Amino acid sequence: MIRPLADRILLIEGKKEGRYPYSHSLYLRDGGGVLVDCGSDLDAILRLKEEEGLAAVLMTHYHEDHFLFLHRFPDVEVWASEEDAPALESFDVLLDRYGVAGTGQEPFFRDLFAEKFPYRPRTVARRIADRERIRFGGTEAVAIVAPGHTPGHLCLHFPSEGILFLADYDLTAFGPWYGDKPGGIGEFRRSGRMLAEVGAGVNVTSHETPVHEGSIAAKMEAYLAVIDRREESLRQFLRRPRTREEIVARRIVYGGERPGPWFDYGEWALMGKHLEGMASRGEVVVEEGRYVLISP
Ligand SMILES: [Zn+2]
Repeated sequence: MIRPLADRILLIEGKKEGRYPYSHSLYLRDGGGVLVDCGSDLDAILRLKEEEGLAAVLMTHYHEDHFLFLHRFPDVEVWASEEDAPALESFDVLLDRYGVAGTGQEPFFRDLFAEKFPYRPRTVARRIADRERIRFGGTEAVAIVAPGHTPGHLCLHFPSEGILFLADYDLTAFGPWYGDKPGGIGEFRRSGRMLAEVGAGVNVTSHETPVHEGSIAAKMEAYLAVIDRREESLRQFLRRPRTREEIVARRIVYGGERPGPWFDYGEWALMGKHLEGMASRGEVVVEEGRYVLISP
């Protein structure tokens, strides 16, 4: 479904309400037609391209639910942040960013990105820096790099329209993703709060409910509190020393019946960040392959 947010800014709602493997896109009816992310709804994107044009796809970051349909547009320019561009240009860099290069999980990801999410390396024609002003014809956006989710995750602020696209700082009940190799809990929190402080009247995210009007300060705090709940559940589980396999199998992040390598990956990607933080604060040590909680 296509929904106007302003005269020249459209929201293309992702299939399945923008739940993974889909994500919402923006379409700017300006500057020859610019799509922001490419994982929403292929029919709607093709129709807009046909009727109004498509000069560029601006990628907020390199995740697969955002590049899902990008392979269908091999001749359209790709724009991205300086920090995330290398992962769109090289499959090896992408796998490294996911933290799976050279691990037992690499074959699963190679397969996933060959079949379900066809990854094609693309030359990034325009590299965007933090706070850069981007003109799309008569429409202007300020790029805001929000690290934590990915190192160069781009948000777009349209000051004249009062719209902020937060992409994967998505305010969902699931909570934040900070599991990429260069991702981090502290950075995610700082970015989330910085985005809430922009104070846009219309805040748009990539997943589930796309439009949040007015202040998102309270929603952002509730969203970031999921991080604390995950850590508290992990702390409870570590009342007995546990192996990595036991922590993964506990499904603290995803809950119950979620078998398979994708969820194994996601659990450890996030739990590993918590354990890193807890270890650096002296709350956890590793003994004989088990994570042991140090009592205060
Ligand atoms: Zn993402």
